[in-house]
Parts: sequence; structure tokens; C-alpha cells
Amino acid sequence: MAEMDGVYDLPYARAPHPIYAGRKIPAWEMIRHSVTIMRGCFGGCSFCSITEHEGRIIQSRSEESILKEIETIRDKTEGFTGVISDIGGPTANMYRLACKDRQTEAVCRRPSCVYPDICKNLDTNHDPLIQLYRKVRAVPGVKKVNVASGVRYDLAVESPEYVQELVEHHVGGYLKIAPEHTEDGPLSMMMKPGIGSYDAFKKLFDEAAKKAGKKYFLIPYFIAAHPGTTDEDMMNLALWLKKNGYRADQVQTYLPSPMALSTAMYHTGFNPLKPVRRGVSEPVDTVRGLRQRRLHKAFLRYHDAENWPLLREALKSMGRADLIGPGKHQLVPSWQPAGTGAKGDRKQAGHKARQQPGEAKGGKFLTKGVLPRRPTGKA
Ligand code: SF4
Repeated sequence: MAEMDGVYDLPYARAPHPIYAGRKIPAWEMIRHSVTIMRGCFGGCSFCSITEHEGRIIQSRSEESILKEIETIRDKTEGFTGVISDIGGPTANMYRLACKDRQTEAVCRRPSCVYPDICKNLDTNHDPLIQLYRKVRAVPGVKKVNVASGVRYDLAVESPEYVQELVEHHVGGYLKIAPEHTEDGPLSMMMKPGIGSYDAFKKLFDEAAKKAGKKYFLIPYFIAAHPGTTDEDMMNLALWLKKNGYRADQVQTYLPSPMALSTAMYHTGFNPLKPVRRGVSEPVDTVRGLRQRRLHKAFLRYHDAENWPLLREALKSMGRADLIGPGKHQLVPSWQPAGTGAKGDRKQAGHKARQQPGEAKGGKFLTKGVLPRRPTGKA
């Protein structure tokens, strides 16, 4: 902690390099009023390399150091209006969480402390974070403190008090969380918890919002075409989205990135989470071809008429033509709106998706870094 404080207490200029004078820098706009409270992540998600970059053992700053930085932002950072835009790190709610036993932690070789289940040796006490939030809110001149970093929801459900504190004081209309998928096959390759954890968190979130008298929404993120994802998995995810009234506006299709375990799956076709030996390695289906990658993305955007020809063709070849039609339980209509779908699954600029029969209103959500406008008036 002393080393972390030492680094963060250095007298930074808190301004872009003078070479950018007068220019608007989007990344700077995002971070200039945000505070990093910790580094590292013990989540171990296969597609992410934060653990490799920052370590699996969480390094937290002291409260004093964090509060001092917030006072510095208040006093010295241009344009501060009293709003801390984010207080977090790679994961919002791993502050001061650690293995109960330092010796065990030092020799432990598990790639994740929370997958397949939360390890019984992990201390999941959120009290230090709750106390920190309260102290930050009490800093004179600070009007609002947002949590924009991703919340690890399977950890958050361990502390209903934390969820209440988060919803009541630190959510601005929407909260982004990342179940990444609904199906066990791809989730096991990603080392992510089952969708049951999302349901448990949503229940707590909705209860906390109701108690606080606010109307807030969860924005779930999903990944298409991750290694180990079948066409059927994507179809089931699309059915889940429709059933729950979600329409993803921007989605991400998996791309291999340096140092991540999923990258090894993608390039070798084997599962590195199981023993890898000549002749006995577990094969993993990887989604490589352009058509299949487009199809997986199209399932995430099942509501976009541009995708309907591709989805109809795929559903027929999967033996699921029963999902084509106007019913609430069906995924795509059998008709095609004039002027759409002419380019197969390619998106046409400016096209607006239409609401389908049986789809809940207001369920549209954006993914990957673009937040909808906050609701106006008192939430
Ligand atoms: S024993 Fe459990 S909590 Fe401790 S480091 Fe290993 S996985 Fe994490």
C-alpha cells in the first residue's frame, strides 16, 4: 500500500501534454475527474489480460491517499463541477479484497479466485469500500461520485449492503455489467459465472433501486463469437435478449488480443484450461470464418432487419425454422421491410431497427463505451 500511495501521491500536472494545447482529447475528458483506487484483478476472465498486466493480487491505495487526490482534483483540475466521474479500477469492487491467507495466496496456482465459484479462502468483505465511498462523498465540494468501472456482480451479491450503497449514491441512471453470455459452453471458456449470478444481482439491484425510489437500469454486455461458442449458443442468447426486452445497439465480436487465454484457444483450437498434451488436448471450436462471425453478431442484433435474411437462412439450416414468424417467442419475422436486407447481413448506414412483436419497450441498450443519455428530472 505504501508503494501504491507513493506512486499516486507524486505531484502530477493533471493536464494533457502541452503539445495537445487547445485540442479536445476524448480520453482526457473521460479520466480527468476519475480516481484509481486499486490495481489488479483476480477474476481471470480468459479474454482479458489485465491479470497478466497488473497481477492477480489486488494492490489498494490507502483512504488518505485517495481523499488527498480528490481534494487535488477539486482544487487544481480545470472544469471540475463537483462530480467525480469514476472511482474504481480494473474492477470497481475489488478494493482491499484478498485471499484470507497470505502464504496460501503466494503459492496458489488457480487462475481465478472467483471461477468456477468464489473460493472459500477469498475475503469478500465490501465494508472497506463502503466506508471509502462514504468518506469520498463527504469531501467538501464533491456533489456526486459515480462508479463507472465494471462491477463484478457475482462478488457484489455477497454484500447486499454494498449493492444498496452503490445504487443509492453512485449509479447515474444506468449501470454497466458484463455477463458476456447466457450459455454455459462459452461462459466456461471465458471463465465467467453462469447467468444465474446475473439474475441474482439484477434482483438485488432492482430491490435496491426501488428502496431508493429510483428508476435505474442494468446494461448487460455480451461477446459474440468467443472461442467455444456455437451457433446454437448465440441463438439461445438472442432468445434470452428478446425475452428480457433487450436490444443491443452496439455489440462486440470477439477479437484475439495479446496475452489472453482465449487467444491461445483461438489460435490453437485447444482448451488451455485443461491439460494440453499431444493427442489428449481438449479441442475448442473457434469462430473464424467471416460468415459465421457475422452470423454470431447478427444474433446479438436480432432486431435489426438488415440481419433477418442471414438469420432466417441460419435458423432453417439449424432446423429451427419454428423461430421464424410473428410470435412473441419467435426471433425474426418471415417478412422483410422494403429497402432492407438487400445487402444480406451488412448494416446499412442510418437504418433504424423496428420494434418486433412481443418485445418489451424501453429495453434498448448500448454496449462498448457508449452510454445513453441519463433520464431527465428526478430519477
Ligand atoms: S486460495 Fe482461493 S482466494 Fe486464495 S489466491 Fe487461491 S483462489 Fe484466490
